[in-house]
Amino acid sequence: MVLKKIGTALEWTELTDPQPEPGKIRVKVAACGVCRTDLHVVDGELPDPKVPIIPGHEIVGRIDLLGVGVKGLKIGERVGIPWLGHTCGVCPYCIGGQENLCDHPLFTGYTRNGGFATMAIADARFAFPLGEAGRDAALAPLLCAGLIGWRSLGIAGNGKNIGLYGFGAAAHILAQVIKWQGRSAFAFTRPGDVTAQTFARSLGVIWAGGSDELPPEPLDTAIIFATAGDLVPLALKAVRKGGRVVCAGIHMSDIPGFPYRLLWEERQLVSVANLTRPDGIEFLRLAPEMGIVTNTTSYPLNQANQALADLRAGRFEGAAVLVP
Ligand SMILES: [Zn+2]
Ligand SMILES: [Zn+2]
Repeated sequence: MVLKKIGTALEWTELTDPQPEPGKIRVKVAACGVCRTDLHVVDGELPDPKVPIIPGHEIVGRIDLLGVGVKGLKIGERVGIPWLGHTCGVCPYCIGGQENLCDHPLFTGYTRNGGFATMAIADARFAFPLGEAGRDAALAPLLCAGLIGWRSLGIAGNGKNIGLYGFGAAAHILAQVIKWQGRSAFAFTRPGDVTAQTFARSLGVIWAGGSDELPPEPLDTAIIFATAGDLVPLALKAVRKGGRVVCAGIHMSDIPGFPYRLLWEERQLVSVANLTRPDGIEFLRLAPEMGIVTNTTSYPLNQANQALADLRAGRFEGAAVLVP
């Protein structure tokens, strides 16, 4: 399913089978999650869009060809291919352990072809072996929604009360992680979205309400997954002195002006970008132990536009997954 022009529907397109260059693998896609970032790609909200492009960066599949020089992976092995598709390895960020901020990265489904397809090519060094536990479609959302949530939680720090603004794919996974860690998650949804609030409670959050409400106790940290910049001052209002607000999305609408007193008393406002390979290895190793259950709605690959439309309209809880 190819995005040929920004702002248009993806098109079902027959392509010749791609061949892996040295250091790359070819994967037969078994499932690919649909992420809000895919909407930003389609809508042209990210800088320097590359079209035509096959979106999709939560790929689960099996290797069916190895490029020359690939080590440590074998044909038939199940792997996950995430958003971070390639880094330069030589810039100050790569050398300093912040490859998520690499100066010359490639991102799956944005600047290199992704997984809304029957086959995908990936740099072998950026694919995660997934083992055999768990269904393909259930694992797919872990590869971005789960991973970005995990990285955000690390940046959020060790506080007990954690607010999650926007209860979509990422928050529905992270709520389970927070509960497993013995901490308390508070879910903030669109005001009046009783369905999402009920869903959040079913995953163990200790409070769920509208984003215009204050939680029953101050938050140590708030993580914002929703794309509305208006949430930033609301979240700052909900965190305690010295607390932190983490913006986890790749794109947000403009943040409105707000009184300085909301930031005063050492509150911090930060963002989290992309992932590093150690994030992925750590999270995917812990995920089965944490007993994460993803709530997925599957669509056939040729229904990718419907899946994107349903995500945009909030027509499902949890995550959408395309199955070729
Ligand atoms: Zn780099
Ligand atoms: Zn994503």
